Amino acid sequence: MERDEKELCYQMLNQTGRSFSMVIATLGDQFQYSTCIFYLVIRALDTVEDDMTIPLDTKLLLLRTFQQKLYVPGWNYRDSRSKDAVVLHNFHVISSQFRRLDKAVQCVISDTCRRMAAGMAIFLEKGFVIDTFQEWNEYGRCASGLMCLGLTRLLEPFKPISSQREQLAHSLGRFLQKMNIIRDFKEDTDDRRRLWPREVLVRTGNTHLTVDDLLQRANQQAALRCLNYLIGDALTHLPDVLLYLNAIQTPTVFPFWAIPQVMAIATLERCYNNPQVFEGKVKILRGGTAMIVQNCTDMATTKDLLRIYALKIVARMECAGSSDEAKDFLAVLKTSGVLYSD
Ligand code: CA
Repeated sequence: MERDEKELCYQMLNQTGRSFSMVIATLGDQFQYSTCIFYLVIRALDTVEDDMTIPLDTKLLLLRTFQQKLYVPGWNYRDSRSKDAVVLHNFHVISSQFRRLDKAVQCVISDTCRRMAAGMAIFLEKGFVIDTFQEWNEYGRCASGLMCLGLTRLLEPFKPISSQREQLAHSLGRFLQKMNIIRDFKEDTDDRRRLWPREVLVRTGNTHLTVDDLLQRANQQAALRCLNYLIGDALTHLPDVLLYLNAIQTPTVFPFWAIPQVMAIATLERCYNNPQVFEGKVKILRGGTAMIVQNCTDMATTKDLLRIYALKIVARMECAGSSDEAKDFLAVLKTSGVLYSD
């Protein structure tokens, strides 16, 4: 019974988070299972947030009580029609495994869950729309930064987390979340989630358009300017990402943190000035993922990879005629030590 539940949890992990399951596999036995349960709990929460077939009232109530459901044996939610609904249908299995974890680990997971849910609820009540860059940063913190902070507490259990490390964990999450939001623009907009900050229209001189208009072919030039601007904004988190990775003391957890960050920059490289973002999902080339997983073993190789993708982005910026953007980004790369300053 216990073994079946464990197996089902790993199965759900593979099903709902293919790239995350690959990253979890790099962790040693000590952390692998608790991280898997952590992921499933947050994936369930995220499924509630994203499933637009769940009525808003039900959704808000679910989010606000989600943390408590971890302690209710047998509770699950069967009315989701999301592609990831399996984690809600089988939530009783996830929560049963959660209650078997170490008390301190339970505490980190349930606390993260409560704080993320509270943040998500605020944006849902607002109509799942993001107006300003300040809101974009705040959404990135609640939808992903808090998870990175929780994982930091989980994987550095014997160290108090300084407020500086906390801020860096938030940046890490923001970087990943912004990449997701940039890449998933078409899917999100089709689903009535408007997560590109409206302010980007002002900053790129496109106030006559709405964010939805960017999907129309006639607005492609404006759409690409917004896309490139948002990528530039996401890349400003890179120095924090480097600082975070530099301070990791346990070599065995290094790849777990480094791989998603390098995948994120590789994805942004594919997305830069790419009209396909407005037609579907842009992905890293197949060989690219395997190469990244194999090579993110320590800081030196990770920096090499970051440099490769960063310079490709610089080339794309120059090719798109944005030499100012390229200059700004080169400066960011020097500050963060990805490139040597001359
Ligand atoms: Ca979400």
